[in-house]
Amino acid sequence: MCAAKVPFFNYPALYKNDEENLLAVMRDVCSRGAYILQKDLQQFENDVATYLKVKHAIGLADGTNALILGLQAMGIGAGDEVIAPSHTFIASVSSIKLAGAIPVLADCGEDSLIDPSSVEKLITPKTKAIMPVHLNGRTCAMDPLLNLARKHNLKIIEDAAQAFGSKFKGQSAGTFGACGTFSFYPAKALGCFGDGGALVTNDDAIAAKVKLLRDHGRNADGLVVCWGTNSRLDNLQAAILAHKLKNFDHDLIRRRELAGFYDRYLSEIKDLNLPPGPKSDDHFDSYQNYELQSGSRDKLRDFLAEKGIGSVIQWGGKAVHQFHDLGDFQAVKLPKTERFFERCFMLPMHSALTNDDVLHIINSVREFYSLKPVSALE
Ligand SMILES: *Cc1c(COP(=O)(O)O)cnc(C)c1O
Repeated sequence: MCAAKVPFFNYPALYKNDEENLLAVMRDVCSRGAYILQKDLQQFENDVATYLKVKHAIGLADGTNALILGLQAMGIGAGDEVIAPSHTFIASVSSIKLAGAIPVLADCGEDSLIDPSSVEKLITPKTKAIMPVHLNGRTCAMDPLLNLARKHNLKIIEDAAQAFGSKFKGQSAGTFGACGTFSFYPAKALGCFGDGGALVTNDDAIAAKVKLLRDHGRNADGLVVCWGTNSRLDNLQAAILAHKLKNFDHDLIRRRELAGFYDRYLSEIKDLNLPPGPKSDDHFDSYQNYELQSGSRDKLRDFLAEKGIGSVIQWGGKAVHQFHDLGDFQAVKLPKTERFFERCFMLPMHSALTNDDVLHIINSVREFYSLKPVSALE
């Protein structure tokens, strides 16, 4: 029997599985004509703040703008250095440039996340902030980064675009530093039907500043009190997100179950480096992505493609410092990051995957490595 195709991501299924409820949400918002800075946005912001146990959540146009506005609200700009990992999406680093500051790129550690010892070597008198990026739904081990920040009087802005619902030692990603940012891009674990983002903070001054910046510098009376931009989260998207947030824990459980299956049936393969399984102590991973490493990556991906299974190499297969056309990082060498990008790729991971889909993926990988198939997921 030929198993069904398993695309890497499945937008239509995620909509179809909840179509009636989603349409009801949209009908409600549109029949009220409630599009910009309305009560659904406020409700969603309150829900996010409660869910993450943080004082303020502010809906923004997207995750990239959340980073730019966060840096601006922290007073970071011309002449300031911000240390970020090179293993990240370009938006983490472009936000530093667009805020007028200087990005400085750190290597990753064995966990493929920003390496605190690499960060420490890059600190100069100009360094103002560290930007940890919680990739793939795993929160960076925050203790050494918080210690470094304390020791050198630096701020932390967390790019938690991939880590909504992820925790380290029981605390939510995005809530450790001065502020943290999220993306609700459609493929993110909590995704809307277009672009969306948020910034969270426990700092009243940062929250107040970001609220001004996102709405042309206008205060509650409509008076312009500083330069700002337009970076509001649409009220319609906020209503959809508030609806999805109600079911988000259920999605997380499913993602973690899927990661558990991959872990159980692929960990005996020596050629693969899997991400940590869902049982690790200090980390509660949300498995935004299931990114693994293989010494035979390209052949394995071709084999999976023949089996109808989609896989992806993130970001064109390059770390930020490897985009030479940028002209900023010509001399930068980051051996661990470069090695990671020679071996990494992602298997399908989303809540619309069926157990049959995952069994087909697992058995296809096992077949590539000449292992017996498993008959059922347990
Ligand atoms: C998705 C993402 C962003 C940007 O989010 P947008 O909402 O697409 O602007 C930033 N950083 C990382 C690590 C991301 O994965």
